Amino acid sequence: IGTLYVVATPIGNLDDISQRALKVLADVDLIAAEDTRHTGKLLSHFAIKAKTIALHDHNEKQKSQQIVDWLNEGLDIALVSDAGTPLISDPGYSVVNLCREQGASVTPVPGACAAIAAVSCSGLATDKFQFLGFTPAKSKARQDFFLNAVNSGMTSILYESTHRIMASLDDAAQCLGREHKIVLAKELTKTYETFFSGTIFELIEFLSDDRARQKGEFVLMLPGKEVDKQEFNPDAMRMIDLLKNEMP
Ligand code: SAM
Repeated sequence: IGTLYVVATPIGNLDDISQRALKVLADVDLIAAEDTRHTGKLLSHFAIKAKTIALHDHNEKQKSQQIVDWLNEGLDIALVSDAGTPLISDPGYSVVNLCREQGASVTPVPGACAAIAAVSCSGLATDKFQFLGFTPAKSKARQDFFLNAVNSGMTSILYESTHRIMASLDDAAQCLGREHKIVLAKELTKTYETFFSGTIFELIEFLSDDRARQKGEFVLMLPGKEVDKQEFNPDAMRMIDLLKNEMP
């Protein structure tokens, strides 16, 4: 029986590919790629000759059983997306889910992931965080999304696209207030990698100052709202302290 390797590829800097990823990509019988042309460029950069098939959002459901059948016939298959870790806001869920359901072997070849790279350098709390994927397309849904993110009390990591970044920040300012803290990580591992940490208003100003700054790939991060003891009234706090003393 073959193995499905879920292989992370670089998010910008090609040097971030791992030795193991290169070996697996060179050794497998087949590479299932989000975009075969895009992956073809990566493979030719590393002089890897491999057979590729397309596995993207639109055909993943139909192709999944075929992939599991090939694994059962003994083929080793690598799953890659255009950049970073497959399944993280990328295709692959249907096939991995089906592999697990049908007992096929799946193993990760870990590597770059924009969310993890961003939060690790954000300066925000990382003891607990949530990844929320892309923000919703509609303004009202986006405002609810930002409010829920912050009310979770933990750091939230979100992906944003270049055509929506300004509208998204306007929504964030409206529902969270323009003084709310935010961190932006842009073009990670690429030449113009940028981190910006400040208030939502300052970030809007920073991006508006030069339209070129609104282009590229973005990760947004919001600190969770702290449940501040001072927000409770003093009587309630005294009661909580009294109850605490009674606890075993
Ligand atoms: N699977 C990928 C990963 O592991 O990060 C994410 C794929 S998702 C379709 C693409 C989004 O990820 C972009 O719109 C952006 O929000 C984020 N992203 C990908 N590469 C990035 C980079 N180099 N810098 C900042 N964000 C990036």
